[in-house]
Amino acid sequence: MFRKILIANRGEIAVRILRACRELGIRSVAVFSEVDRKSLHVRLADEAYPIGPAASGESYLRIDKLMDVARRAGCDALHPGYGFLAENPALPRACADAGVTFIGPSAEAMEALGSKTAGRQLARRSDVPSVPGTNDPIETLQQAQALIENIGLPVLLKAVAGGGGKGMRVVNRLSDLAAAFRDASSEAQNSFGDGRVYLEKYLVKPRHVEIQILADSHGRVVSLGERECSVQRRHQKVIEEAPSPLMTSDLRKKMGDAAVRLARAGGYTNAGTVEFLVDANLDFYFLEVNTRLQVEHPVTEQVTGLDLVKLQIAIAAGHRLPFAWETITPRGHAMEVRLYAEDPDNNFFPSPGKILSRHAPSGPGIRLDEGVYEGWTVPNDYDPLLSKLIAWGNSREETIARLRRSLEEYTVTGIKTNAALFRRILAEPEFVRGEIHTTWLDELLLRKHRAPTLEQGSEDAAAIGAAVWQAMQNAAASPTSSSGASEEVPSRWKLEGRKQQVDRTP
Ligand code: ADP
Repeated sequence: MFRKILIANRGEIAVRILRACRELGIRSVAVFSEVDRKSLHVRLADEAYPIGPAASGESYLRIDKLMDVARRAGCDALHPGYGFLAENPALPRACADAGVTFIGPSAEAMEALGSKTAGRQLARRSDVPSVPGTNDPIETLQQAQALIENIGLPVLLKAVAGGGGKGMRVVNRLSDLAAAFRDASSEAQNSFGDGRVYLEKYLVKPRHVEIQILADSHGRVVSLGERECSVQRRHQKVIEEAPSPLMTSDLRKKMGDAAVRLARAGGYTNAGTVEFLVDANLDFYFLEVNTRLQVEHPVTEQVTGLDLVKLQIAIAAGHRLPFAWETITPRGHAMEVRLYAEDPDNNFFPSPGKILSRHAPSGPGIRLDEGVYEGWTVPNDYDPLLSKLIAWGNSREETIARLRRSLEEYTVTGIKTNAALFRRILAEPEFVRGEIHTTWLDELLLRKHRAPTLEQGSEDAAAIGAAVWQAMQNAAASPTSSSGASEEVPSRWKLEGRKQQVDRTP
């Protein structure tokens, strides 16, 4: 087993990884930028090293600085977390050169599966169905037009290097193609330094269901079942759950087998996720592989009882996965909401600032993974994910009830959060019935505001709708309003008890 692990990340995932290290008796080494000097991961780690200014290009994305810390601190392994360099093959290569074990797949497996088009090519060879479309980047408009004649509208232009829903444009009419092509390419270029795009059939109201896999270095690849991540805002996950409400044991087996086949074909090792879209006929289509730990991994942990980070470490150390896991089935139900420091009144823009007070929910079935504390200032420089609130229950119904109860307990002041959005979603009858799809939330936000002049499905319209709706919620929840429901308006007793109440988070 390793002695000391360098955690090449920050925030809640750095905290998550160092907790696993501590339970395994492995020393943890944190790195931090100037603005993260007082961050929780720095405080909790056994050792911590500065790696430069706030800009991630000068700190968390600098492989040379990470390797320098690994050498100075005497680390024998490195965990990349998610985001930053987690899917960059240059990191496992640099680790190999430095004699440090990378806790993740090999650089070759990352290349074989990591890019969307490479993944699609491998899926085709592995007999895994993909969304109809191209397996290579598109170079000209004529090429795109010819493809559209073949597969029909609507289509989706997607960045080859895509992530976080960036560099995607839906094309409903041929006349929109040229502008969409230009926009998708330039957004991809700005976000990823790679402007290449490809084209897929745009599935209408699909569900996003992904399979968590684990692969050891002795040839065993197992599926730990699915997570459903269909509640999305602008193609980004907002709520994740396991099992998927639509799942049958037959479909779970088929999707699990497809994911395992693909991982094997790519020579994959360690934890990974194979993402699919599922249509109304329960036909599934490969979307992409995430060659790393996912943000939403805790829901799988809650229904399998496994610790994915400890398993990642064990796999990297050469341990074998038990044979029995090839038939693992989920127990109970788990759901995660991503609490962000963002301002729903202002187009969900990040809302960094000092956390003046907070109350963390707890009690039966509740888990909170976070990298924040009272008095800490959320920096402006990174993804503003504050906390992942995860509930487990015997049934989906009990899980939703626990999540709602814990969201009522959750308070944070000084910054704005998206907590009110979850309180609303969890109360929506369609959500409670599990009748969700990937554009369900955007449509709900639009519907709530009755914005008939705005085109359905337009991202801008969804954002405007969300902002208007949120403003209405805030007005209704203000302490002077008599119409606010008790869950929205804290009582005077509660308010008195809160320190330095500046702004009640909606
Ligand atoms: P990213 O890597 O940017 O997250 P993904 O390929 O994982 O992009 O897709 C993110 C989301 O975008 C999906 O969960 C889904 O909501 C939507 N999406 C992607 N491809 C399609 C498609 N072909 N048809 C319909 N929706 C899609």
